[in-house]
Amino acid sequence: MPKTFMPEVTDVPGLRELQLRGLQWTVAHAYRGSEAYRKKMDDAGVRPEDIRSLEDLTRLPFTTADDLREGYPFPLLCVPFEKVTRIHASSGTTGKRKVLCYTRKDVDDWTHFFARCYEMAQLTPEDRVQIAVGYGVWTAGISFQMACEAYGAMAVPAGPGNLDMQCEFLVDFQSTVICCTASMGLLLAEEVNRRGLRDKIRLKKMIFGSERSGDAMRRRIQELLGLEHLFDIPGMTELYGPGTGLDCVYHTGIHYWADYYILEIIDPETLDPLPEGETGEMVVTTLRKEAVPLIRYRTRDLSRLVPGDCPCGSVLPRHDRILGRSDDMIIFRAVNIYPGQIDHVLSGIPGLGSEYQVHLERRSDGRDTMRVKVERDPAGDAAGDRELIVEVMNAFKTKILVSPEVELVDYGSLPRSERKSKRVFDDREP
Ligand code: ZN
Repeated sequence: MPKTFMPEVTDVPGLRELQLRGLQWTVAHAYRGSEAYRKKMDDAGVRPEDIRSLEDLTRLPFTTADDLREGYPFPLLCVPFEKVTRIHASSGTTGKRKVLCYTRKDVDDWTHFFARCYEMAQLTPEDRVQIAVGYGVWTAGISFQMACEAYGAMAVPAGPGNLDMQCEFLVDFQSTVICCTASMGLLLAEEVNRRGLRDKIRLKKMIFGSERSGDAMRRRIQELLGLEHLFDIPGMTELYGPGTGLDCVYHTGIHYWADYYILEIIDPETLDPLPEGETGEMVVTTLRKEAVPLIRYRTRDLSRLVPGDCPCGSVLPRHDRILGRSDDMIIFRAVNIYPGQIDHVLSGIPGLGSEYQVHLERRSDGRDTMRVKVERDPAGDAAGDRELIVEVMNAFKTKILVSPEVELVDYGSLPRSERKSKRVFDDREP
């Protein structure tokens, strides 16, 4: 019997029982280990012994990015320093960076559940995994690698960027899997085709990290490289890092590791939990994390829980792709727009390429305007522009409830980046 990294529980009651035990342990551990957590719980009038069922979760106060920043450099630490074996940090777009500590067991747990990603993606020890993400304090290429080795596949620790080298490795080492950002995946796919390397490589699967990616972009990468599967790997530094879930080969949503953390979806305005299927902010509570456990941590990421069962039969529940950050929400003429919605609308229109930009400007009369620049499909012809523009405008009007100006540009004319591409440009006066 081969080793499995899947949860030891196989049914929902078993999973809930395991979650309750994890929650009770976490709350008691945080209360005992961290003055900041103890104060938050005392202020909220809740003590560890009050957590008797999973429903009691909502009695606990939220934790936010501010809590992490206030305790800089080692916030919410719940173990003595001699137990800490590693740190990672997230660069953070606003304010001070967040630093997270890990114990030996935290790193082992992370490695174990990350190896589950490779199992979910149906890799075998024959697979060769080119890890084209960053290594260092900000990012966690090391987690891709440690899990790959624990799983028993072959790691090619390539690091990010450097398309020349990536292409060379794909050919020379015959990598079957590559882990990278979606932007990097697109660049690489185009480069492999430009160099005519398609028949010389054996790439079958791509695992995308840390970036939203539209359907059109994914289709394009899949076609250009002839991939069997593209997988979405979520991850944030606060919650270990990458590898906290993966979609299975049915691609019906991202299975998340509910035996390691509880995911709630809340309304970011009212803070009330939302029912399955509704989009809101992801809030996570860890069940086994020692150094810095998270209790109802507001991630600012937007997604939804996917209702029903997956055909794969896994007990692990699913969330949708990340639709954006609640902080990235654009308010345009009183309409709330998430960048993920724009991806989604443009992806549904044949004849468009995968790259786009949204420019927001304020006219001298005080009216806000939205201009959408989008690439034509590589095979597209400018003769069809007029109809395509009308189609894009109508789609925005019916699905997002705004009326932008639309401009089509040649395929390949918008900038691509090896890291996250900037797509929304808000030039309105504050
Ligand atoms: Zn599944």
